[in-house]
Amino acid sequence: MTHNAFADKTRGHLPWSRELISVVEVDQVRKASVKAALLVENDPKEAGTIREMFEHQGTYSFALTHVSSIDEAETSLALHAVDVVLLDLGLPNAPGLKGLRRIRAVVPRVSIVLLSSPGDEVTTIEAMLEGAQDYLIKGQIEPHEMMRALRNSVARMLIEESLFIERNRAQATLDCIGDAVICTDSAGNITFLNPIAERMTGWSHVDAVGLPLARVFRIMDATTGELAEDPTKKVVAQGRTDHLPANCILTRRDGHQVFIEDSVAPICNSEGTVDGSVLVFRDVTVARALAEKIAHLAEHDPLTGLPNRLLFNDRLGQSIARVNREGKRLAVLFLDLDSFKHINDSFGHPIGDKLLQSVAKRLQECVRSPDTVSRQGGDEFTLLLQDIENDEDAAIAARRILRAVAEPHAIEGHELYVTASIGASVYPSDGLDAETLVKNADTAMYAAKEAGRQNCRFFKQEMNVKAVERQSIEENLRRALERRELTLHYQPKINLRTGAITGAEALLRWTHGTRGNIPPAQFISVAENSGLIIPIGSWVLREACTQAKAWADAGLPAMTVAVNVSAIQFRNDAFLDEISAIISETGLDPTSLELEVTESTLMERAALTAPMLEAMREKGIRVSVDDFGTGYSSLSYLRKLPLDALKIDKSFVQQMTADQGDPTIASAIISMGRSLKLRVIAEGVETAEELSFLKTQDCDEAQGFYFSRPVPAVEFARLLEAQPC
Ligand code: C2E
Ligand code: CA
Ligand code: CA
Repeated sequence: MTHNAFADKTRGHLPWSRELISVVEVDQVRKASVKAALLVENDPKEAGTIREMFEHQGTYSFALTHVSSIDEAETSLALHAVDVVLLDLGLPNAPGLKGLRRIRAVVPRVSIVLLSSPGDEVTTIEAMLEGAQDYLIKGQIEPHEMMRALRNSVARMLIEESLFIERNRAQATLDCIGDAVICTDSAGNITFLNPIAERMTGWSHVDAVGLPLARVFRIMDATTGELAEDPTKKVVAQGRTDHLPANCILTRRDGHQVFIEDSVAPICNSEGTVDGSVLVFRDVTVARALAEKIAHLAEHDPLTGLPNRLLFNDRLGQSIARVNREGKRLAVLFLDLDSFKHINDSFGHPIGDKLLQSVAKRLQECVRSPDTVSRQGGDEFTLLLQDIENDEDAAIAARRILRAVAEPHAIEGHELYVTASIGASVYPSDGLDAETLVKNADTAMYAAKEAGRQNCRFFKQEMNVKAVERQSIEENLRRALERRELTLHYQPKINLRTGAITGAEALLRWTHGTRGNIPPAQFISVAENSGLIIPIGSWVLREACTQAKAWADAGLPAMTVAVNVSAIQFRNDAFLDEISAIISETGLDPTSLELEVTESTLMERAALTAPMLEAMREKGIRVSVDDFGTGYSSLSYLRKLPLDALKIDKSFVQQMTADQGDPTIASAIISMGRSLKLRVIAEGVETAEELSFLKTQDCDEAQGFYFSRPVPAVEFARLLEAQPC
């Protein structure tokens, strides 16, 4: 047996540090030098031979101390440090291993070269296994060989020491790192597990070592649910680092499962051939859950849990691609709640949020599983309806949705009513990409709102022109007040019995700098939808009151001025206070002010209407129902409200005498008004025939082009002046 074979046996098995060892070796051999040696030899002749050899070599550059017994050796070593001890294995007091052990007891880290006699092989081997670094056989020693043995033994000692340190360091590292580590040999059997690997697999190091990896490291692919292959096989075969499949689940010995992520690297021996692998892995269950949560948040609306705009567009894009291949159609619905802002303002945001959640739930209940409901933001939702056959399918779904949303929502003790408007676009006719389809559905939604809310409209190309127009109107309207482009015209209301002017309706006029007159029909709804109606409405009220007060102060005949109030203003909490402020500011007698509120406004959120009207009546302000007959209100409901007058909508007036018209409707409406014991005013009277018909029906007042168009204040004053007193 050569001393290399001995060394291999004593080196231990640390597979991951093979490369490290060779680096250490080269380095240590270079550093190894012998400066002091102790010769322990009881035979003076042998001792003399060795000393001679040193001198003969001419390298007597280090101190050689000679002692004859182990006792002397102990004393000497305790006093003087040496690099190497040349130890006779046949000392009378301490033969064989005894001497070695005693020396080690004094200096555990000294290098020892044995001097053995022929026939001492067994003892020599044992001594080498106990940690002697080398041996020389007496009688066969060559001087240069001895010198080399001494140097090498010192180098070997240093290497062993370094390895010991490295090994301890590696062990400490593996014990305390957060990752699990398993090593295998080239056959795929386990050679090592660190404490984390023990915990994660449920196998102790002792139980696991020697077992095939697959028994201890049981992994499966979470996507397919199938057992995954032993990852080390490929790595060992290809000699390359690899990763486990994504979505990998490790099943612990007790059956508990965790998601893991890992890499496997080959381990090469000193010749560079792969003879094992190291597997490093960690529990990513928490990290994955967090990543999934983050991904969910990025694509969902936190309030309703619905997909957000991003995810919706993504799904729409994918559906378009699929539908395209299959030659099918799909629809996008854009839904906006009517007057949601009002609910938010009057009940507070927490209730508003709950209402949105309730609406979201109903929307989801209305669609099929492949469809997508998303919240775009605010009170806007979009729906993707897959695989529709024709527009009617989408229309049916839209109607179902409108009905579902309009059902009362029970929220924290309140019964909330909300309606919605829906715009629809269909692929491929209304757009070829997600963005266009959503934009066009949005445009159609505006058309639905204009058509009177709780409505659905399909996109038509001409709506785009309208949408652009509406946008431009909104921009211009924002500046109209400060540019003083708004004025009021006044239209007289005539008492049909006396022919006297009983009042004036103030009607808004907008003269745009370049576009000229823009009729209210074109901008009032824009003002309502953009909220601009609030400042504009305030201006109208102040202007009308100021004017009425001026006419009264000028001594013109007493009459009322009527101001149109939009639903948005009527529902605004600050409205009542504002009226009071304007009345006291202008000094107008409140009984001279009449507010025209449409029938549908009174019906909308009916519970709040009565207290509002009561408060107005207390202030002495009158309220008339505008556009009566168009809102399908119940007479029993109207009867309970403190109202002053009804204005019969001009569409009925015009039907009274028209060729194909039906006068009975108008008479019915007039008599309905009368039954409510309210003043009845007919609007839009254009002809003498209409007038005389109204007179026969005992209508109280009339208003219309037949008497006068709405005119500027100066002109209206002339009309008043011309009146017979
Ligand atoms: P409205 O309240 O029903 O007002 C009556 C409309 O009928 C006025 O149209 C008036 O000019 C028109 N009119 C009067 N007599 C006749 C007639 O004999 N024949 C016909 N065909 N029409 C007649 P205008 O001024 O274009 O206003 C339209 C609508 O705009 C109003 O309908 C009202 O809803 C709204 N509006 C006008 N001014 C204001 C305002 O200051 N505030 C609010 N919120 N809405 C306003
Ligand atoms: Ca009116
Ligand atoms: Ca009207």
